[in-house]
Amino acid sequence: MDAIDQYAEAWEGIRKSFESGRMAHAYVIVGSPRGNALQFAEAFLKLLFCESADKPCNACPSCHRIDSHKHVDTLWIEPQSTARQIKADEVRGLVHRMTQTSFEGGWKAGILVSADCMNTNSANVLLKTLEEPPKKTILLLLTDSPQSLLPTIVSRCQKIVLSDGKAGVLEELWRSPLMDLLRGLPPNGGLAAARLAGTLKSILDTVKAAISDAVEEELGGGDEALDETKLKEILAARTNARLKEVQGEVFRVMLDWHRDILMFVSKVDAAHLIFPKDLNALAEQAKQHTQPSALQAIQVVEGMARRLDRNIPDTQIFDEAFRKLIR
Ligand SMILES: [Zn+2]
Repeated sequence: MDAIDQYAEAWEGIRKSFESGRMAHAYVIVGSPRGNALQFAEAFLKLLFCESADKPCNACPSCHRIDSHKHVDTLWIEPQSTARQIKADEVRGLVHRMTQTSFEGGWKAGILVSADCMNTNSANVLLKTLEEPPKKTILLLLTDSPQSLLPTIVSRCQKIVLSDGKAGVLEELWRSPLMDLLRGLPPNGGLAAARLAGTLKSILDTVKAAISDAVEEELGGGDEALDETKLKEILAARTNARLKEVQGEVFRVMLDWHRDILMFVSKVDAAHLIFPKDLNALAEQAKQHTQPSALQAIQVVEGMARRLDRNIPDTQIFDEAFRKLIR
């Protein structure tokens, strides 16, 4: 599972405390409540409920029931779509369930997806349980904005940080597809350049859509009385400003990648690589380069960043750049 590979350290910590019987009663899992935090929570639950000796096996009936969120000793609650709130009654239901005996004689777990959507009443209900947690009970609070949780709640939970709130959620959208793209850079071009340019464009388009949604939500929450035209202008300006920041990070990663290739070509010690895990892909790509061509590739990426600032259409920039990069 991705979430485990990516967050090996956090996972090892959980596994160790499980094996030594020293689990916390409640955890705040910071990450995307529909992405990495959810995956991590599912893996966590499988550790508790898996029937196999080698946990989690991902194959036994209990593991399957965790995947479908249908295990009888787990209760999932999440904000309702319209009000985006977790209501006190739902939390009360969850708390009540946690005080009853488990159906299967083992653990019981309550999972709050987007726990930051609890209102004050809900949070207070939960707080009481956190103060006197029932035995063999675990609460998992999934959130991408832990700062919106009551400090008294956070202080009673163990925190697992998978990504740094909203910025981290955004980064999830581009970092791994970009790395895939870089690892897959083919040795020679033609049609491939257009395809790579299209991939990069679609990665950035996805990021842009996510930023735009986030900005829209922020604007909707404000009390500024603005007409629609003005609102659209602000939305576009803020979205573009943040997109530029992400583009900057994307180009930095691309630059680092080509620096690594240059290191390879220059036979510098592999210990100095920025992407040591990608040793094989880098070595393979370095075979296609000489020192001057590796240097040129770096200049091409720097050129991409400069040209975007001059408002040249991005498709054209990416297309020309990949033509040069894959030679
Ligand atoms: Zn299992």
